[in-house]
Amino acid sequence: MGWADNLKRSLLVKGGVHPPASKLAAGVKISDGPKPKRVLIPLSQHVGAACEPLVEKGDRVLLGQKIGDSDSYISAPVHSSVSGEVTSIQRFPHPSGRDVLTVEISSDGEDAPAPGLGPAPDPLSMEPGEIRRRVREGGIVGLGGAVFPTHVKLSPPSDRPIEAVIVNGAECEPFLTGDYRLMLERGQDIIHGARIIRRAVGAERIIIAIEQTGPKAIAAMREAVPDDGIEVFILPGIYPQGAEKTLVKTVLGREVPSGGLPMDVGAIVDNVGTCAAISELFLTGMPLTRRIVTVAGDGVAGRANLEVRIGTVVREVIDFCGGLSGDPGKVILGGPMMGLAQYTMDVPVTKATGGILVFKKGSVFCEEPGHFSCIRCGRCVRRCPMNLRPYLLGSYSDAGMWDHLEDLYINDCMECGSCAYICPTKNPLVQLIKVGKEGFNRRKRKMEALAEKASEEAEEKENAGKTA
Ligand code: SF4
Ligand code: SF4
Repeated sequence: MGWADNLKRSLLVKGGVHPPASKLAAGVKISDGPKPKRVLIPLSQHVGAACEPLVEKGDRVLLGQKIGDSDSYISAPVHSSVSGEVTSIQRFPHPSGRDVLTVEISSDGEDAPAPGLGPAPDPLSMEPGEIRRRVREGGIVGLGGAVFPTHVKLSPPSDRPIEAVIVNGAECEPFLTGDYRLMLERGQDIIHGARIIRRAVGAERIIIAIEQTGPKAIAAMREAVPDDGIEVFILPGIYPQGAEKTLVKTVLGREVPSGGLPMDVGAIVDNVGTCAAISELFLTGMPLTRRIVTVAGDGVAGRANLEVRIGTVVREVIDFCGGLSGDPGKVILGGPMMGLAQYTMDVPVTKATGGILVFKKGSVFCEEPGHFSCIRCGRCVRRCPMNLRPYLLGSYSDAGMWDHLEDLYINDCMECGSCAYICPTKNPLVQLIKVGKEGFNRRKRKMEALAEKASEEAEEKENAGKTA
């Protein structure tokens, strides 16, 4: 596909914004993060059911050992990122803002690996079901931030044939550079992982999608791509180009239906980091125990792209990068658009942590919670890539009018933050939409339960009438 086709596809995409890229760590190679003496491994680091602990206080654990799992299909096991001793299993602060059941491990510094880890036989001739089993056992989840269990994505129903695997290299969040560095430094791993995914879902095509703003990454991936039908697609440099539905529309020209998934239109999307993690799993047998984290912002002394062990405390990573440079005004895990602001630096790095951004007091805008004042300028509507009406979602959520939110397709909001970014009155639209989603979905569940109860009662009455 030539550049003219790319351009035509790009014009299909509506909305989006152009926040300053601020890719401060783009020139910094990936390096090892700190070697922590203690890790905090939450039993919930993914979309779906939380894991149950498989270890107890006082147990010795090994690097890569499974320490938590769940019977639920939508879940992913968690593994120890060090060898050492379990010192407690209790609730600790989590990046989500909640306290989450967590396995605390004191490292012995030896990194003694769990038995049985080792390279897999050729994954490119492996049965798809076996690939999925290994991906699940390896605790692989989407590393672009969504943390959706990858084995579920790799299991499309038989009536949803997958034509294309789209490898998401659009790291459109400002500041984050981990995916960019991966493409520069580990292109072969990304391609190997993508081929394993293609094998698992039976797709024909692999399309590596990269923003036009990363010419070095485009060149590196083009060089790494062998001549076997793997394509590189150049995306426009607009946020949120990396969002799954936006990406599918740009790359394939297909609209994922409301409430649907990319597999409904013949695609699956996996981040470059997820592909590299799958490659490592099959090459070494090591489950997901580390991830790449960008450290940046004017509130931290150094800039880095670190391979950090999951469970390392954020404060330790900041200290590893030279510590704070001034009074911190905001610490964000993830990017500034979709990331989560933290109230403490004593939370662990999880599978979802793509960035640790620290900003000094005065260099960030902190809005008043609950403040909503709309001048009906319509900018948020024009910028919403999902064709939603954010000002209405915000005002109905603010007023607790949950029943109006269904008609406004609130669950289609991907919380990209474009509306809040562009809003001249700085309405906290994403926070309001999150609250609205929770209120609406709670109300929906309640109404469904009431309807079920009413139908059961009606059936009982009818049966009682027949008996009489
Ligand atoms: S309403 Fe949701 S999808 Fe639309 S711009 Fe706002 S956050 Fe993004
Ligand atoms: S951008 Fe802000 S002020 Fe303008 S319509 Fe949307 S919510 Fe209202």
